[in-house]
Amino acid sequence: MFYFSLFSGKKILKSSFIDECFFTTRDFVLTPSARKDLEKTASENMNQMLKTYNGCRLITAEQVHGDKIEIVNDNISHYPETDAIISNIKDTILMLNFADCTPIILYSKKDKTGALIHAGWRGSAKKITQKTVIKMQEQLNIKPENIAAVIGPSIGKCCFETDEDVFEKLIDDKNQTKLYNRKGKKFFIDLKLLNMQQLYYTGVKNIDICDYCTCCMSDIFFSYRKEKGITARHSAILKI
Ligand SMILES: [Zn+2]
Repeated sequence: MFYFSLFSGKKILKSSFIDECFFTTRDFVLTPSARKDLEKTASENMNQMLKTYNGCRLITAEQVHGDKIEIVNDNISHYPETDAIISNIKDTILMLNFADCTPIILYSKKDKTGALIHAGWRGSAKKITQKTVIKMQEQLNIKPENIAAVIGPSIGKCCFETDEDVFEKLIDDKNQTKLYNRKGKKFFIDLKLLNMQQLYYTGVKNIDICDYCTCCMSDIFFSYRKEKGITARHSAILKI
């Protein structure tokens, strides 16, 4: 279940499935991106967050819509050309940024190991979510049944309109009509459901999926599509 809460008095979105994570909103911007006017506010918010998580190390990634997945080590805090980060190091704060793309958070309480995934349509087509679970399993011995997953706010089926080329790359089985709607030559695809299927396929069954569409709810979240690229980012945060 998703619910709004506060972090240092600013609005955030949380899931009851993973206590250690949250999503920021327009009220708590950490990454100004194209919105130069938000740089000062974002810097103040970041200082506030790091002060709250005193003694923790912030881990970020470049996010290039690829499928490179890194396991955090002691020496590196920023991972170039990477779209998913896994950590089992105590007191690391994982952070990735979004404006319509799908954020996926994985966490095993038992193993104190988690991951953040940036899955836009390209990452979803490359099955980055499925690959992250497999990497956690193969390299860190995390059992999928011990992983809770949170699929955060992202552009919904209502607004994610694509042409046939993107549809062809995303939908393997055209009989799965709940994954998309067709209107003439356009397709409306459910990226959250696609990623949920990838989780199911790897054995992760404990999944909280957010109904919110960032494009419909651009008063609360940032939307690349709605704001035609001139937008900041909301962030997914996971503390290990
Ligand atoms: Zn929508």
